Amino acid sequence: MDASVRLGKIRGIEIGIHYTWLVVFGLLTYSLAVGVFPDWYPGWTPGTYWAVGALASLLLFASVLAHELGHSVVAQSRGIPVRSIVLFIFGGVAQIVEEARRAIDEFLIAVAGPLVSVVIGVGSLVLWPLAEQVNEPLGAILRYLGFANLILVAFNLIPAYPLDGGRVLRAFLWGALDSVYRATRIASTVGVFIGFLFMAGGIFLVFRAPLSGIWLVAIGWFLQSAAQQSYQQLMVRRLFEGVRVGQLMDREPVTISPEVPVDQLVDALLNYNVRSFPVIEDGRLVGIVTLTDVRSTPRSEWGSRRVRDLMTPFDRLVTATPDSDIESVLRAMALHDIHQVPIVRDRTLLGLLTRNALLRFLQLRQELMRSPEEIAQMVEKRSRPSDLPGD
Ligand SMILES: [Zn+2]
Repeated sequence: MDASVRLGKIRGIEIGIHYTWLVVFGLLTYSLAVGVFPDWYPGWTPGTYWAVGALASLLLFASVLAHELGHSVVAQSRGIPVRSIVLFIFGGVAQIVEEARRAIDEFLIAVAGPLVSVVIGVGSLVLWPLAEQVNEPLGAILRYLGFANLILVAFNLIPAYPLDGGRVLRAFLWGALDSVYRATRIASTVGVFIGFLFMAGGIFLVFRAPLSGIWLVAIGWFLQSAAQQSYQQLMVRRLFEGVRVGQLMDREPVTISPEVPVDQLVDALLNYNVRSFPVIEDGRLVGIVTLTDVRSTPRSEWGSRRVRDLMTPFDRLVTATPDSDIESVLRAMALHDIHQVPIVRDRTLLGLLTRNALLRFLQLRQELMRSPEEIAQMVEKRSRPSDLPGD
């Protein structure tokens, strides 16, 4: 996730905080220091309320981190790498690099997080009365952590994929239907439905308790969009599974020299019927020049300016290698709104991957088989080694 601050590494996993979390930290500290703790324990000094509020917020943050580490450690033990954990407004996200390969792995990874939260929650509630005898603020913190962690568990166990509860549901469906694709489709449909249910409840509530109503609508919106997104991500991953950049790139793209004047560049774009040219100098890729660059140059300057003046230079280019996976390249294309990615090794141009080539590939797949569902099922079958006859 972008816009996050790195805190460090645990077991090779990058830990970061998204800036939205800082807002939550502020709001939470405020509501604890001004609302919850004065209500529970009257008579402390304002300084104590704020200090205990901030400490409780920090410990809640540590609890969320422990929850995500629970998922991550089990994922790692199942041979699935984890890149990072980012804490943001709705909690935490562990960036688990691959999908689980088996339903049982998915189940274990999904329950590990809530299990950690249950241990922290129940542990805190058990210790709370004892701690309160010794030191009231300490008891207050345990009491808060206990309830907050159990609420966290309750929320995460809502069976709305991609929440933990939804992942557990998906793991069961996966085991029962023997198809991760159909399991995901059903689990995310349930997720979208629950999201809309929350939103409907929020709208109903908004007239009686506006703040809770708006909050419910926000959670519902988050749930249904997360469910849809996860489903689409899986579809893209399935559609391009096993396909490398090298297979889809144009191996002999027409290139251009940086010294060519812009009016000749325009002729060349029209002649070759392309949107862009990789710019090559002394056998090395030095940039890329596109239709957009031409359009943003006034016509009167076409005779006096050269490709070099218009092109995006190499150090600002998004590039990939022939072994890159399609999904990450697609993400970069969408993020930077670009139509083509040069495929390079060192600075030697090996090919050009264009949006059109990706669309052609999808079209071909779709024409050969009827629906995206069938394609996904084909890929699913093919990726299971036992189904390959004598291969
Ligand atoms: Zn979780």
